Amino acid sequence: KNNLDYIQHNILSHGSCALQMAVAHRNLAAFREIFSKAKNIAIITGAGVSAESGVPTFRGAGGFWRKWQAQDLATPEAFSRNPSRVWEFYHYRREVMLTKNPNPAHLAIAESEERLGKQGRTVTVITQNIDELHRRAGSKNILELHGSLFRTRCLTCGHEAANYNSPVCAALKGKGAPDPETDDAQIPVQQLPRCEQTGCHGLLRPAVVWFGETLDSDILTRSEKVLDSCDLCLVVGTSSVVHPAAMFAPQVAARGVPVAEFNMEDTPATMRFKFHFQGPCGTTLPPALARHETEPN
Ligand SMILES: [Zn+2]
Repeated sequence: KNNLDYIQHNILSHGSCALQMAVAHRNLAAFREIFSKAKNIAIITGAGVSAESGVPTFRGAGGFWRKWQAQDLATPEAFSRNPSRVWEFYHYRREVMLTKNPNPAHLAIAESEERLGKQGRTVTVITQNIDELHRRAGSKNILELHGSLFRTRCLTCGHEAANYNSPVCAALKGKGAPDPETDDAQIPVQQLPRCEQTGCHGLLRPAVVWFGETLDSDILTRSEKVLDSCDLCLVVGTSSVVHPAAMFAPQVAARGVPVAEFNMEDTPATMRFKFHFQGPCGTTLPPALARHETEPN
């Protein structure tokens, strides 16, 4: 069977268009057969899903905010050195999200959760994305491994809360421009977002997981539980060999549970898993998750 996968993979990579179509179709039909019987589906999503909505990651070539990339600013050290600059960065990212929308991949996931829910089946999203596009698409069961742009946590009392204010505080209004020539706003720390719990007034930080920080143990435990009980796992917009899917997908596959990747990548490592659909997930995912003929109308 591994040999057959390998041959299919080579045909997909190097074969004629007609053969590619034939194999891709057979793969999709086989996936759909398993999908139609799955009771608990885990969907791990990564940066690729957000990228298809035009959400900048500030990583890799050209991924700069002013002179910096995410790994320079998304750290506890950067925040303690210059909380004003880091808040400008996150304020900008929050404001950018007002101009972005869920794409067909987000919508297909949300639609399948609602539809399968009525059949007593579950769909859970485990995402590394912090932009809340899954929530905006209508997904309900979401585990945000890296937190959210739209949550804050108090450095003094630890209180965490949703925060959709725009701007996040008065002093950040009009700040956060990404051009390299922009000067730091140098906002006094008292005017940065502050805790509103009675008598606290501590400095708030974005409730996202920064480089060098560990994942929230409660979210991690709940994710493990979902993955231990799923009978189908999708890896979307990321690879099952990179974080965070690399933590999860291999253990799911080891249980003999089918894992299907939907991404732009073409790496031999994907052959450890049962299905791989290459291309933009906004294109490949909707037909994969659409109503199966065996589902009730
Ligand atoms: Zn507080």
